[in-house]
Amino acid sequence: MNVLARTDKSERLAQAPLIIRRVDAIPVALPLKSPMKMANATVSTAENLLVRVEAAGGQVGWGEAASAPTMTGDTLGGLVAAVRDHLGPMLVGQDAREWPSLRPRLHQALLGNGGAHSALEMALLDLAGRASGTRLIDLVARPRREVVKPMWLLGNKTADEDVAEAHEKRRLGFDFFKLKVGVKPLKQEIAIAHAVRAALPKTTLCADANCGLMLAEAKAYAEGTRKARLMFVEQPLAYDDIDGLKKLTRATKVPIGIDEGIHSFADIRTSAAAGARGVSLKLIKLGGISAAVEAGKLCQKLGLSVNIAAKIAESSISSAAALHLACAVPKADWGVSLTHFYLGEDIVRRPLPLKDGLVALPQGPGLGIEVDERAVERFRVK
Ligand SMILES: [Mg+2]
Repeated sequence: MNVLARTDKSERLAQAPLIIRRVDAIPVALPLKSPMKMANATVSTAENLLVRVEAAGGQVGWGEAASAPTMTGDTLGGLVAAVRDHLGPMLVGQDAREWPSLRPRLHQALLGNGGAHSALEMALLDLAGRASGTRLIDLVARPRREVVKPMWLLGNKTADEDVAEAHEKRRLGFDFFKLKVGVKPLKQEIAIAHAVRAALPKTTLCADANCGLMLAEAKAYAEGTRKARLMFVEQPLAYDDIDGLKKLTRATKVPIGIDEGIHSFADIRTSAAAGARGVSLKLIKLGGISAAVEAGKLCQKLGLSVNIAAKIAESSISSAAALHLACAVPKADWGVSLTHFYLGEDIVRRPLPLKDGLVALPQGPGLGIEVDERAVERFRVK
């Protein structure tokens, strides 16, 4: 067969319908290396939904979404039910390549449920990418970069432990740290920021309070840590406290970011109008990568900085999707959180590696990762 004939055949295969014959919603419980304590939740086991979409020809695509009762309201049972009982049955018999027209129909049929929509979109794009030999990013956007510099979250009981962990992670290549605050007494939180800064004079530092502070505390933290040079303080106040946000951003020059308060494009505009300087974009909050790419463009228009984050602790499936997103948005200047690093065990054959402080966009088709179905079975919630 000559090259031209082979090309014709591969193009025909690439264009052939990709009929979905099966959609599985699989609940898993993935143990973390150590519990992650935040202001409003402690996560020691990640309860995540996996979505497995299978085409008539046997090709498979995978998606994932963390349950996040205190962020999206999604529980594991709710995520499973949304895909198993509502969204999955709508897709059986449909052509996965028709994703752009399927997507609005799914969102019309089931409002909210960002995690379920995101996991399903991820699986369909992974499937479509694999079937055509195309990276997921090339299906949804023009790639802007091929590597990202991930951040590491610090949330120990003492400053000494945070400093020791920061040094250890720096040796592995991390050079961007986020302090989890809003948990300990304020004075101690401020002292920790200074201690970590003193230990790591040149590294990038930021803090995330996960809605854990009152207005006066937030102001005291932002001003009290000025010399620690935090790049930003994320979600100091309750997710819906827009008046508080306005007062805070007027009272301090420290950039304030919004995470739990972002669930839609309207929230991004509202936060910007209230003086926020940046937002955290997560797939589960925005309902999938197509919407998140558009959100990144909106942030660019509004002059907002952008943090891209998977949810503690999604596996290399969602981390890969977050990585595709981080490489697709105009900027991700407030860092990238890839959460598979926090898992005791991943469910892909080769977890996304850190090399020289960077994580590279996988070059394989779809998400570019290989799911280990036996590991999935081991962690399946029966
Ligand atoms: Mg956050």
